[in-house]
Amino acid sequence: MKKRNPYKFYSLLLISCLGLVIILFNCNGKTKPPPPPPPAVYWNNNTPKVNGDSAYAFVKKQVDFGPRVPNSEPHVKCGDYFLEQFKAYGWEVKAQSFKAMRFDDVELDSRNIIASYKAPKATRTILLAAHWDARYVADKDSVDTKKPIDGANDGASGVAVLMELARTISQAKVKPNINIDIVLFDSEDQGYPNFIKEQTKQDTWCLGSQHWAKNNDTNYWYGILLDMVGAKGAKFYKEGYSIRTAGEVVKDLWQVASKIGTNGYFVALDAPEIVDDHVYVNKSKSVPMVDIIEFDPNDPATYFAKYHHTHKDNMDIIDKETLKAVGQTVLQYVYNTFGSQEQADAFQKAAQEKAKPAK
Ligand SMILES: [Zn+2]
Repeated sequence: MKKRNPYKFYSLLLISCLGLVIILFNCNGKTKPPPPPPPAVYWNNNTPKVNGDSAYAFVKKQVDFGPRVPNSEPHVKCGDYFLEQFKAYGWEVKAQSFKAMRFDDVELDSRNIIASYKAPKATRTILLAAHWDARYVADKDSVDTKKPIDGANDGASGVAVLMELARTISQAKVKPNINIDIVLFDSEDQGYPNFIKEQTKQDTWCLGSQHWAKNNDTNYWYGILLDMVGAKGAKFYKEGYSIRTAGEVVKDLWQVASKIGTNGYFVALDAPEIVDDHVYVNKSKSVPMVDIIEFDPNDPATYFAKYHHTHKDNMDIIDKETLKAVGQTVLQYVYNTFGSQEQADAFQKAAQEKAKPAK
């Protein structure tokens, strides 16, 4: 792992994460078409409440299958469970099966799980995503480094929050007037382990989102990615790539957190860039996508929390309050944006009425 040097832009990186490589880099990438205009945000008082106990149960359910490592039985069973569960909430489901090639040429039987909520009159679609596979090694642990991890936080927590959003929406009196695709990316966390010193291949992480981005035709208004969103005391900083490619969404999301009181988790400070699934989605589809992810920009030595890619990433570190805070913040943001045009019209009308001179 290279130590980052904040004063030298092109000195890439700092490897670590969860299927992700942290990179600090210069902005001189390829020219891309500009992203679509960001959503106009209005406050929506009809946002239903997410349930922390329910989200917690969704984490546990996944962990109880065993580590969801591709080519294993728990992985197949858990994938099937997702399909059933989203279907039970009335969402359209499909599995995008593919073979992912691991860095060492092992073929991974993989499935991206796609669940869609269709609103009757909606013209726009948003993307909510997380990765669902668990890391096949505990390469940052000191014991049993070759054994897979539970991935209670790194994997299961993001999925659990999205399942809770689907459940909440399915039972809500006021449904979102927007189409929602929840995509659970597979094979995100199967990249080079730390103990392999010669790492010659590129893009060995985020295999599911790489495949999905190449095979998806939907245009998304904006996207939100959840990664490691369930640990006790987690802090979510404004991740750099999200700021650069989805700055307005970042600003509004963190403002929502401030307004609903989840800003103990959502810290309004800018942080360096991380390569996670949102980068591949954005590069391929120009979807402005925000990554809500736990890491500590003040600790350049490790970046990620101590449980990261170790056997400590189990149910003991999961906190229902964190899950609830993330779920409620995201859902409030989604509800704020889906009705924006109608609400904008109503606001404008009210303002005009107010501005009329009294007779
Ligand atoms: Zn990971």
